[in-house]
Amino acid sequence: MTKALFSVPHITCEPIKSYKPGSSEKLEVQKEYDLMMKKVINLPMIINGKKITSSKKTPVSPPHNHKHIVAYCHYGSQKEIKQAISACMVNKDSWRNTPWEHRCAIFLKAADLLSGPYRQKINAATMINQSKNIFQAEIDAACELIDFLKFNVKFLTEIYQKQPESSNGIWNRMEYRPLEGFVYAITPFNFTSIAANLCLAPVLMGNTVIWKPSDSQTYSAKIIMDLLKEAGLPDGVINMVHCKPEDANKIIFQHPDFGGIHFTGSTKVFQSIWKEIGKNITKYKSYPRIVGETGGKDFIIAHKSADVDEVTTAIIRGGFEYQGQKCSAASRIYLPKSQWKKIEKKLISELKTIKVGDPKDFTNFVNAVIHNQSFEKLKSAILKAKKDNNAKIIFGGGCDKSIGYFIEPTIILTTDPNYDTMKRELFGPIVTIYLYKDENFEKTLKIIDTTSEYALTGSIFAKNRNIIIQASKILENAAGNFYINDKPTGAVVSQQPFGGSRGSGTNDKAGSYLNLLRWVSPRTIKETFVPPKNYRYPFLKQEK
Ligand code: NAD
Repeated sequence: MTKALFSVPHITCEPIKSYKPGSSEKLEVQKEYDLMMKKVINLPMIINGKKITSSKKTPVSPPHNHKHIVAYCHYGSQKEIKQAISACMVNKDSWRNTPWEHRCAIFLKAADLLSGPYRQKINAATMINQSKNIFQAEIDAACELIDFLKFNVKFLTEIYQKQPESSNGIWNRMEYRPLEGFVYAITPFNFTSIAANLCLAPVLMGNTVIWKPSDSQTYSAKIIMDLLKEAGLPDGVINMVHCKPEDANKIIFQHPDFGGIHFTGSTKVFQSIWKEIGKNITKYKSYPRIVGETGGKDFIIAHKSADVDEVTTAIIRGGFEYQGQKCSAASRIYLPKSQWKKIEKKLISELKTIKVGDPKDFTNFVNAVIHNQSFEKLKSAILKAKKDNNAKIIFGGGCDKSIGYFIEPTIILTTDPNYDTMKRELFGPIVTIYLYKDENFEKTLKIIDTTSEYALTGSIFAKNRNIIIQASKILENAAGNFYINDKPTGAVVSQQPFGGSRGSGTNDKAGSYLNLLRWVSPRTIKETFVPPKNYRYPFLKQEK
């Protein structure tokens, strides 16, 4: 069909809008936010392009205003899961046979729609549904998702161009087939862009997908489905279900056509999924692809040569942006005793200026945590720290859920590098600091490497190059994304491909070609132009 080797348009990262007072983008997003807050909409499942409602409905409320209802989400059961699998299998051939440039064109169109008419819809939905301030919504739901949509197109062409060597009389080719079965995407609440990309990466490579969004991201998930429909993604390529995870697991992980899982969420859940797949391994037609990015206990270590203001800013931005609910959020901090008084003074005076509240008020830096369960978990960690002899709360500690699930940015100072909150992922605005003796810098690096089960992100702050080299070496396996003199959050698609190893996941690097490779099963083709007509090799001849 295709009669040219097309090149894709030049691709660059989406510029982040400022939303400064008086800007048109600020007025637009505020208008969209108010409209959404006034309405109550339905969030149906979408299977084979059809909206499926049910009598099992649950209210959806903003975490910062949990008595206010903005939607009802419709839940299905095993019946809808079976329908979603059928839809994936029925639509598989037409989607995998859609020429690559047309698959890419749908993605590029979706990116342009998101950059234009859908930008403030997805931003407002993410602010309301996940309690993000406008900047956090913009860098996630708008910019990062636009970057995923566009850069994945570029990565696809780079993969397709990767071809084997050929020799005389032979043309070797490699084609990047989609997987034979369907892909199951289970997605987290905390990034609208990650949720979308967990479906879109396999889809771009020609697969059909069942998508089960987090119960705490269903509102912004609907906007993604609207966007993809408008961009021309055919019905049945992504089938979105809302259900109890166990209901889906029972059907999907037993199905012979289960081709792969694209997961982001907590480590425990991923490990339980892996076990389930292992138990059923003989039932599948192919070995399923298992891709999962999971938890983190991300660190910052400052050397005595580090700049106090830079370290303080990294702790605040890295630890408290989006209420510390980023898998990459800095939550364990190692500071040299000699610098502590200066850092403490700056840190506390800066934290005092931070406002906590509703994202509608743009002056709030910290908003609500995602749900009651998270609120209670964080509150109990704070209460425990108040009681423990080896921990002291030096800032924050306040919790209030009368209107929304608000937790103050909280700093725990501990004398024990193995204190509970130095090891356990809390996923909230709680940062724990441990002070080390300056002469124990190397020993502290070794402690960092062995304290937690995770290895997602981490930062070293130092001016001295030899120190940077030493930290990079000792911490080689402690983080999949390692930062030098920068906070450990805010990875950009195409610039810092993202993922960690150990308990943090399979490290398949979202935002790079490496992730797309997991969604194809290459076929090698050898074509011989003039095949031999006789089996006898020259060595078989008799000596004369
Ligand atoms: P979660 O594990 O609670 O839920 C993630 C998804 O798994 C949701 O859709 C949920 O419904 C589903 N789920 C829950 N139990 C399940 C089960 N038994 N079987 C199948 N699916 C199940 O995580 P969350 O609270 O949505 O997100 C926070 C977690 O995600 C944190 O641990 C964070 O570190 C991690 N995360 C990691 C990355 C990364 O790239 N490494 C990115 C974002 C979030």
